[in-house]
Amino acid sequence: MKKIFIASTNKGKISEIRSYLAPMGYELFSLLDNPGIPDIEETGLTFEENALIKAKAVFDVVKIPVLADDSGLEVDLLGGRPGVYSARYSGEGATDEKNVTKLLNELGDNVKNRTARFRCVIALYDGMNERFFDGVCEGNITFHPKGKDGFGYDPVFMPIGYQQTFSELGVDVKNTISHRGKALLSLVKFLELENTM
Ligand code: IMP
Repeated sequence: MKKIFIASTNKGKISEIRSYLAPMGYELFSLLDNPGIPDIEETGLTFEENALIKAKAVFDVVKIPVLADDSGLEVDLLGGRPGVYSARYSGEGATDEKNVTKLLNELGDNVKNRTARFRCVIALYDGMNERFFDGVCEGNITFHPKGKDGFGYDPVFMPIGYQQTFSELGVDVKNTISHRGKALLSLVKFLELENTM
């Protein structure tokens, strides 16, 4: 059975990835099985760089193909920020709530331009080949947080075509349209093709 190691401790992400890859016959492991792997600093300037840094660092330890993802929010009015800095946007001791508050303060009451997108890049590294799969979800930043589900900027991100935020839509709907869902589908297509060769 082919093995893949998921370089994440995020249970939501791991179960989302598992739901696609386990039925394809992959045996899956994650950082939850290997708490001994030290924290990896995300020093890259792009999502690709960060995803690959994580995938390579974990591969060096586990020596089986590794999947690592990096994602974030790009807001047009802010020139693409917070981007790769999405998790630590409000600085030292950043929390989801502080990040959202900073973002809403920066956008203020600007009504014309609140366009933004979530972007996700998944890197697959097997010790030789570096492969990347990306996904984008376009939307707008709301004026106030709405909804209880999810994490990060979910309460203030309303995807195009919907009248509710990611938090209000809930994880099942979100996964069908999200940046991560799209990147995962592109990975799945690649793996399906690889398995037929
Ligand atoms: P990660 O690379 O998936 O850990 O994401 C980095 C940061 O981007 C998170 O801490 C969130 O602030 C933000 N982010 C990424 N994906 C999402 C999402 O699906 N919803 C809300 N925030 C997200």
